[in-house]
Order: sequence, then structure tokens, then C-alpha cells
Amino acid sequence: MGDTGSVLAMTSTPAGNPQTATARAGNFDAEALRQAVTESFDATVGQLKELVAIPGIAWPSFDPAPLSASADAVAGLVRAGGFDDVRILRCDKEDGTPGGPAVVARRPAAEGKPTILLYAHHDVQPTGDPALWETEPFTAVERDGRLFGRGTADDKAGILAHIAAYSAVTRVLGDDLGLGVTFFFEGEEEAGSPTFRSFLETHRELLRADVIVVADSSNWKVGVPALTTSLRGLVDGTIEVQVLDHAVHSGMFGGPVLDAPTLLARLIATLHDADGSVAIAGLLSRDDVSVDLTEAEYRADASVLDGVRLAGTGTIASRLWTKPALSIIGFDAPAVDAAANTLLPRARAKFSLRLAPGQDPAAAMDAVRKHVEANAPFGARVVFTPGESGNPFRTDTASKAAGFALWALGEAWGVPAVEMGIGGSIPFIADLTEVYPEVQILVTGVEDPDSRAHSANESLHLGDFRNAIIAEALLLARLNAEGLA
Ligand SMILES: [Zn+2]
Repeated sequence: MGDTGSVLAMTSTPAGNPQTATARAGNFDAEALRQAVTESFDATVGQLKELVAIPGIAWPSFDPAPLSASADAVAGLVRAGGFDDVRILRCDKEDGTPGGPAVVARRPAAEGKPTILLYAHHDVQPTGDPALWETEPFTAVERDGRLFGRGTADDKAGILAHIAAYSAVTRVLGDDLGLGVTFFFEGEEEAGSPTFRSFLETHRELLRADVIVVADSSNWKVGVPALTTSLRGLVDGTIEVQVLDHAVHSGMFGGPVLDAPTLLARLIATLHDADGSVAIAGLLSRDDVSVDLTEAEYRADASVLDGVRLAGTGTIASRLWTKPALSIIGFDAPAVDAAANTLLPRARAKFSLRLAPGQDPAAAMDAVRKHVEANAPFGARVVFTPGESGNPFRTDTASKAAGFALWALGEAWGVPAVEMGIGGSIPFIADLTEVYPEVQILVTGVEDPDSRAHSANESLHLGDFRNAIIAEALLLARLNAEGLA
């Protein structure tokens, strides 16, 4: 509970109210920031509703016009927020077609002040089956304190949180604001960010910053903020088992030799041990997370059928965030309906291995290779083919920026922020850490467990949205006041 501890430490300063102490020390009035955000909140929600109405989808099979309109609308909001230097930029994909339009706006830092880059994405997921939606997906509707619509939470509220926080800080601090601020609103995140790396390298100096806030994650629960402090990495590949030169009659030859699918199944069975933990030697695995999910919550969220026993050891959260997890995601063998009475000569499976934060993907890939080669059943030939790999991510929670963020989240919500992991990966974060190795990356969010991002009836909790804006305004003000040195 390191960082939370430090936040608490602040609470116990002799002045008693860390906010007032910090506000005074930092020459900013935190209460005025909270008020500025609250006063313009209805307008902010109105702008969000207008953005939601633009179905900007970056998938190649969708009409690109709304995506351009979405970029134009976002650029318009940024200009209205007081930015002069606002650009819509694209890089080409490998096939030569244009990547998604990104909005970049920059306000240089005053002498001696740090620069912060505020990231979000304006493209959204397709709706899926419209019949599953209770309201029209691209018409934002308020109900029970939530705003429903595609992209409300993922991630147009991220964009508005950045713009509204900046607007509040400029209004309250005026000329005292010397912080450099860059907006980077991507236009192809939901399509896998195909040009992200080349975009970063093309615009390396334009996007250079000391701190990057990626507002595209979730809070812990409604009413409980979180800083996402770790993401798992990923390696995948295929494992092929070969046993015969060609298929032979299962009656004539079956018995003295096992078929390839059977042998592959045996090999796959060696990848986990008796309690279902990954059994590959040499992989990093930790069990030190500060919060946990209940088994009931996990079973409900993951739709685990009754009677199915969970796998692994330790807390649920550590099994999801800081331990490896291996799944078989593809299997090449004849389909049941096409099955013939033959002994199959070869069979292939695709594996996907989630990596604990801190794990080197190359070492993990090698560990899988060594494992399957060492566990070849009945001397079968095993062909291992490495696939994709992506770095895990871990925030340096001892950093000043992370401390400021945890403090700001706690101040905005009135409860200590949680340090939360994510079991999945956000691939472009690995690109950010490779292109800017020195930068401090903070992953925040406007979503909550009920947001249903990527699904029907996506929604945003409006109370948490307001708090997210306040938290970011406090972070900007504190960074402006105290810097990173
Ligand atoms: Zn997103």
C-alpha cells in the first residue's frame, strides 16, 4: 500500500487538510478548480453528447467520412478551448492506405516547466447488433445518472475530460499556468492503432513530454477511483506436433502409435499444473496486489458456469494482473463433421500467453519453446513457431507524477485511489515507453465495471466523469506548481 500510504501521509500534515496545505504551497486554489469544473459540467456533457452522435469507426470496412468528421469536431472543441496550434495528422499504413486522423494540439511549456501529453482516442467500436441496444447507439441518452451511447465511456469522455480539465485550469490559474500541454487524440485505437508507431516516430518532437496521461482505462468501482499501474504483456505462437509422414488407416495402424491430436492434447496438458497455474519454468509471477475481486464478482464478470472450479492460486486479482496466464486460442485438426477413420499425422495449436509486469517477452517466448521441446510426448516432433509479442507495462508508483495522480484522484473522489492492474495489454503503451524511455506514463480512466465498453448499451457514470475531470485539473495544477524535479 506504498502510494496509498503516501497519500494518507499527506492527509496527516499538521495543517490537517492536505488540499489546503498543497493548494497554498502550490499557489493554486483546489476548491476553485473543483468549482470551475462543476460550473461548466453541463456544457461538457452537452459537448460529449454531440461527439457521441458522430459514428467515427476506423475499421477498414466502415465509411471513413464520419471518422474525419469526428476528428474535425474534436479539433473544433480544442480550438474553442483556447489552443491555436491544432492539427489533424495521419500516417499511412503499411499497405499505403491512410491511417486514422489524429488531432494534435500543443501549448509549449514556459521556461523550467514540464510538459504533459494528454492522450485519448476519438474513434469508437462498431455497435454490434443494434437490436441488443435499449437506446439508439449514437444518440447519447441520460438515465439513472449514466450517459448511454457508443463511445460515451470508451473513449470520448476521455477526450472531454482532458479538454474540460485544461479549460478549468486555464480559467483558475490564468498566467500562472506555465505547464506545457499537448493533446493527442488518436483516430484508430479500436482498429489496433496500425500507424501508431510510425506516427510517434514521425512526430517524435511534437509529442515529446515529461508525463503522459493515457485516459483509456477504468476506475475500480463507481465511486472508487483507480490508477492503472500495470498491464500484462503478451506472446503468442503456434505449437505443431508431427508423428507420421502421412495419414494412415486407424484400423490398420491404430494402437502402437498415438495420433497427432492426442499427442498435442497431451503436450497442451503439460502447460498447466494440477491446480491450473501455468507450469512453464522461468516465467515471472507475483502475488502482491493491494486490492482484490471476490470470486463471485469474477465468476459473474467472466460468466463462469456453476460448478466450474477456478484455476490457479493466490488472489483473483494477482491471477488476472501479476501472474502469467496461458490459453489455447486456436486448434488445427479436422472438424468433427469432416472426420475420417485415419490416424492424423500432424496437428497444430495457437497459444496466447499473458505476461506478468516486468517479464521480458523474448525470455518468455524462449521459455515456452524450451517447455514444449522438452515435453514432446512419445518423442513426437514438435515445431514451435513464435508469433507476436508485446511488452508488459508497470508504472513507477514511487515517481512524483504517480504520487500527484494518486493524490489528485483521492482528492477528487474523497476516497483513496486504488492501484489497479489490467490483465490485458494496451499495445501502444509499449511503443510510448520505447520511443520515450524517460517519460512517466499515467493510465487513468473514466470507465467503471458497468461501462460495457465494446458491448451493447455502453455507458458512462456522470458523477465519476465529473470527478475524473476534477482529478485531472488538480493533477495539472500540482504539476504546474511543483514540477517534477
Ligand atoms: Zn478505448
